[in-house]
Parts: sequence; C-alpha cells; structure tokens
Amino acid sequence: MAERVMSPIEREVGEVFERVRGIGGGKLASYIPELGKADEEAFGLAVCTADGFTAGLGDADQEFTIQSISKPFVYGLALATHGREDVDAYIDVEPSGEAYNELSVHPESGRPLNAMINAGAIAASSLVPGRTVEERIDAVVSLLSSYAGRQLELDQGVLDSETQSSYRNRAIAYMLRAHDMIACDPDEALAVYLAQCAVKVTCEDLAAMGAVLANGGVQPRTGEPILEPDVLRRMLSVMATCGMYDGAGNWLTDVGMPAKSGVSGGIMGVLPGQLAVAVFSPMLNDHGNSVRGVAAFTELSREFGLHIFDRP
Ligand code: GLU
Repeated sequence: MAERVMSPIEREVGEVFERVRGIGGGKLASYIPELGKADEEAFGLAVCTADGFTAGLGDADQEFTIQSISKPFVYGLALATHGREDVDAYIDVEPSGEAYNELSVHPESGRPLNAMINAGAIAASSLVPGRTVEERIDAVVSLLSSYAGRQLELDQGVLDSETQSSYRNRAIAYMLRAHDMIACDPDEALAVYLAQCAVKVTCEDLAAMGAVLANGGVQPRTGEPILEPDVLRRMLSVMATCGMYDGAGNWLTDVGMPAKSGVSGGIMGVLPGQLAVAVFSPMLNDHGNSVRGVAAFTELSREFGLHIFDRP
C-alpha cells in the first residue's frame, strides 16, 4: 500500500518528535494507583491549527485521562454560568508558587489562589450547574465533548482508583467548606472534580480542545461557538500564569504558550490565533509535568517561533 504523503508541518514536527522520543527519566504519578500502571514509553503529539487542520504523531490517538487539563475548561464553565464577579468571590487569579495539591487558600480572604491548583479547581467544580451530582458530571462531560468535537467518556477504573485514594483532595474540599469557599456540599464538589479528571482524551482531542481557545472560542471543526471573549481571555491568562504547576515561570520563559498539564502526562498549549499543541508521555518531572512533554514544547517553540512574546 502506498504510504500517505506527509504535509510539511507533519514532517517538521516529526523531526522534533523523533529527537524527543530518545529522552528518558521521570516517574509515573503512582499516587493514583491506576496511573501507576501507565505505559512508561507511550508518547504522542498532535497539532491542531485554529482553522482545524490536525496532525498527529506516535501515540496521538491513544486515550488517557485528562486530569488537570480539565481545570481551565471547568473554570470557563463556571465563569460563563455565574459571571466573573460571582466566580471571583470563590477563586482568585494569582499564581500560588505551591504544589498543585497544596491545602492552600489566601490567609485573609480564605479564597483559593487560582483555578489551576486543586483548591481552586474543586471550588470551580462546585459552581458547575446541575441539580444533582449526576447532572453536573453530565454537564462537564458534555462541555469537554463540545471542545473536542466528539463524545468523550469517563474512565471508570481511574475514577474508582482516585476516589478510593483521594484523602488529600477530600481534605481540600472540606477546608474550602470551612472557609465558605465552596458552592455546594464538599463531597459532591469532589465527585464532580474527580469525574472531570477521569474523562478520557487523546492528544488529538486535546489539540482540538486547545484549538477552540486558539480560534476565539469557536470549535474549528464543528463550527460550534463555545466561549465568550472575556471568558476565553481569563482562561488563557490563568493558564499562562498558573497552568504548569510550580514550573509556570520557567515554562512561560522557555516555551511562552498558555498551557495546562496533568498528572497522567498530558500537556496542552495554545498560541492564540494560530494553533494548539498537545503532548502525552506519562513520565513526570519533579514539578509533575511530563518530561518529554516539556522537552517537545521547548523544541517546538524554539523551532517554530511559538513564544507569545516573540510575535511580530
Ligand atoms: N486528579 C488529580 C488530582 O487531583 C489531578 C492532578 C493533576 O493532574 O494535576 O490529584
């Protein structure tokens, strides 16, 4: 059978992919037992332009759980549902400089510092509309599916595994309750949060989801308008300042793209107006970011001039 002809973008991205494939090191996020079983060698990369052209390499079509990359999208849903003022009453927009799972709130206001750390993300999950937990989980899965442009599903094994081992996130939810910084019952907010983290995506999905953010809030393939400009701007701002755990400063300096990473090894980065990139490789560095993911983004940013502050 004749080999498919690669587009120039696939060829050039492919060269970066091959170079990064040789990089080892890091460790799996085994604090969620099911994630500790991931294939250490899995490596996928996908690019989706703001007009919907997609290129995927390696394991770009392999599913994994979205984990923290769900956070900006759910934060956007909270903002779209309740408006900026009401959401700001629960969640600030300041980088914390702390680990993502820190029991962290502002000492005076009691507010979590931002929606990219677990405290702020669980507060955002408590603001998801719906009368029951099931309705709220459905709202999140259908939101993430609209971004991806296809129906996404939960990974029940990862959800059960994390629910059973989620002492720290439960403590965070109850701490928020003690500060009145959660809009519903803490156990219900936690159930929504853990379900949103367990939604299965591929790199190609994540690149398409990021392309919505690159394309002014419109899904480039389905044409569905998803985000208002003010919500989109906030999501990208918080991703730029807080999206890469306590490695956010180095990331913005070296890569220069608003981005979000997750403990299953995914990273989604957005260059507004242009494109989104997604990488999956489950071995993590000390900040909890994918080792190969950071390397791939650093090379792609340098080779293709993707840094937002290098733009003409
Ligand atoms: N479900 C994970 C947790 O809350 C998500 C963390 C992450 O991806 O940063 O621990």
